[in-house]
Amino acid sequence: MPMSLTLAVSSKRHGLDLSLEEWREWSREEGAPLYVADQIISWIFHKNTLNPDDFSNISWPIRNLLKDSFNWNEMTIEQRLLSKDASEKFLLKTHDGLWLEMVLMPSDNRTTLCISSQVGCRMGCTFCQTGKMGFQRNLTVGEILMQIHLANKFTKVTNIVFMGMGEPLDNYEAVVKACKQMISKKGYRLSKSKVTISTSGLIPEIQKLGSDLPVRLAISLHQADNAKRSKIMPVNRKYSLGDLKKALLNYPSPPRYGITFEYVLIERVNDTLADAKKLVRFLHGLKAKVNLIPINLFPGVDMRPSSAERIRDFQLYLTSRSIPAPVRYSRGQDISGGCGQLAAKRQEELNLDPREVARRRRQGQMKSL
Ligand code: SAH
Ligand code: SF4
Repeated sequence: MPMSLTLAVSSKRHGLDLSLEEWREWSREEGAPLYVADQIISWIFHKNTLNPDDFSNISWPIRNLLKDSFNWNEMTIEQRLLSKDASEKFLLKTHDGLWLEMVLMPSDNRTTLCISSQVGCRMGCTFCQTGKMGFQRNLTVGEILMQIHLANKFTKVTNIVFMGMGEPLDNYEAVVKACKQMISKKGYRLSKSKVTISTSGLIPEIQKLGSDLPVRLAISLHQADNAKRSKIMPVNRKYSLGDLKKALLNYPSPPRYGITFEYVLIERVNDTLADAKKLVRFLHGLKAKVNLIPINLFPGVDMRPSSAERIRDFQLYLTSRSIPAPVRYSRGQDISGGCGQLAAKRQEELNLDPREVARRRRQGQMKSL
């Protein structure tokens, strides 16, 4: 394909990028009836197709115009791994050759999809493989929604959590626009309480989200002491715990749900009784639930999960003070369960000398790749 044509193709807006209002604007500009916008949106979000040829209640001239004017390509599923615990991880490839991942987690009465918001992350948390990998780029609205589109082909997604790769609030505009499409009656029709944004604590964006679109919030806390938190989460140097707490007290989450805190337990880094006491003090006044997650290890991380005894003591300290604190193991441990681990592994393989890859494969270190 000549270079200019490649650019022309990739510069087209993706069909999943547009909101209903934008489709209406397009219809107006093209002299098409306004209801065409509703029809297009319904094909995309309710009938889950990205092929204008399927839009059978729309006239052929408009279908052809849609085909010519927009990009309808799907991201490719490069790998699909089924875990023993029934969760399923998908490694996806973007049009520019980057990897990201999503995880489908079925349970009795719902199917949760864990999605990515960026390729890599610039927050640099020391215990996180995505953080170690650095930042590559933001995902577009279409790429965020594409994950739901692809998952819906396998099963009906009922809940969304932004806990894959990336810091969602560092890609604020795209994430909020995508969330609006998820909860809209004209979009994926998910309830607002079934979309959760997990963040390391970007305060201005938490405040903005509270007034723009108060979906459920999860906070990656991992330490309630400022100096210690800054060591494992550099974001804390900019947005300290005191300010974070103020922002959370003002966040308009539905009273029934409150805020979930993620706490990755790392031996001797954040699992002592003193750490638990500070955590309880931090949570005072908030309707909180704490998910205790033994750290998921990956090559090159110099940390260890807390012992079972430590986890139990930590949990007991919280629960005896009326703070729900279930211990959660990352789903899909056998398929690189943690945040961004499969895509980061793939990225690492890319950067390695092929002979080194072959050697590691022989040794079984890269079996799942
Ligand atoms: N950037 C956002 C969302 C993605 S991270 C955030 O930090 O909240 C999703 C969750 O995975 C976060 O709670 C994160 O702290 C956790 N996580 C990161 N590395 C992990 C590891 N090695 N083991 C277990 N959980 C991890
Ligand atoms: Fe980024 Fe979240 Fe990983 Fe921290 S834990 S580096 S914020 S993805």
